[in-house]
Formats: sequence, structure tokens, C-alpha cells
Amino acid sequence: MALHPLVKRVLLTEEQIKTRVAELAKEVTEHYKKNNIKDKDIVVVGILKGCVPFYAEFFMNFKQDVVMDFMVISSYLGGLKSNKQPKINLDLNSDIKNKHVLIVEDIVDTGHTLSFLKDYLKSRKAASVNVVTLVDKPGGRKIEFEANFIGFSIENEFVIGYGLDYDEKLRNLPYIAIMDTDKLKTWEW
Ligand code: 5GP
Ligand code: MG
Ligand code: MG
Repeated sequence: MALHPLVKRVLLTEEQIKTRVAELAKEVTEHYKKNNIKDKDIVVVGILKGCVPFYAEFFMNFKQDVVMDFMVISSYLGGLKSNKQPKINLDLNSDIKNKHVLIVEDIVDTGHTLSFLKDYLKSRKAASVNVVTLVDKPGGRKIEFEANFIGFSIENEFVIGYGLDYDEKLRNLPYIAIMDTDKLKTWEW
């Protein structure tokens, strides 16, 4: 497979991702079963747009009465740096009062986005709010935050692919890779 020229190093192959997502889905569905929570009381909230490839696979593991919903939060200012105060650009369509909310995120870095989001969803009277993230970068934390379920824990580097973008691009790489940021200076899209 020819790699995209802006890739410095592949961290996670498509196969590794798919295998782990299947395991992760099992962990999460077992958690709800163990706590006697029915799929009809779960709202799976994807944080657009980075979650899409992960969400699509993950969501198929629930029963058909589970509710699908999405939010758009802006936390990146476009490039490589994250914003302190996240903003809700698209809110939920469904009522989450007394529902068990599962947030599906692509990556946790500083922790600002999810910490803010968890508080927000709790304030809307969710019965519980859990977070599953495909990737975690614990080395990037600016505030304390821990996801309930984590696919992969990686080093503190800017990564692209499998939903993760650079300036809205490169989301459809089938793998997750460290970006060669030096090449950006001369790169023409
Ligand atoms: P946080 O608020 O935890 O700093 O970051 C949340 C958002 O920043 C993530 O949902 C993701 O959209 C973006 N982000 C953080 N780290 C990376 C990264 O390494 N690569 C990409 N493409 N986005 C990232
Ligand atoms: Mg995200
Ligand atoms: Mg982004």
C-alpha cells in the first residue's frame, strides 16, 4: 500500500483498528448489560466529524432500538492547535433526559472538549454519560480527564487518518499515522 506523502509513520493499520474496535464494542456493550441498561435507553452521541469511520463500525454492535445522534463541537482553530473554550456548533436532536449517553470521540488530547461536553450533557439530565474514544493522547492533557473506554493510547504527536483531519483533509486515510509536519511548509493541496 502506497502511503500518503504527508505521512511520517503509520501508528495503527486498518487491520489493527478494526480488530480493536470489535473488542472495544464488546467491552462497552458488556458494561451496559452488566448494569442492566437496555439498548433502548442508550443514546450514542458521535462528535462530528472525526468520529464517523469509528462510529459507523462501532454502532452496528448495538440492538436496533438504540438511538443515534451527533454533535458538532469546534475545538481546533483549523490547524494543529486546540482551543481552550469548545463551542457547540450543532446540538443534539434527541431528548437525553434519563437516557444513558455514550459519547463517541476520535481522540482525546488536552481533555477540554470532553470535559466540557460531559458537564453539558449531565446538565441536560442524562442518567449517565460515558466516553469511548478510539485514540487517547494522555501526554497532551491540560486538564484532568479520563475516557471510560479507550481504543489505543498513543504518544503525544499530531495524527491523521481514520476520521482524523489536517485542516479538514486526510480524514479518509484507512490507517492512523503521525503527520510529517515539516513537509507542510512546501506542500500544495
Ligand atoms: P482536546 O479538546 O482533547 O484537546 O481535543 C479534542 C479534539 O481535537 C479532538 O476531538 C480532535 O478533533 C482534535 N485533535 C486532538 N489531537 C489531534 C490529533 O493528533 N490529530 C487530529 N487530526 N486531531 C486532533
Ligand atoms: Mg473529535
Ligand atoms: Mg479536527
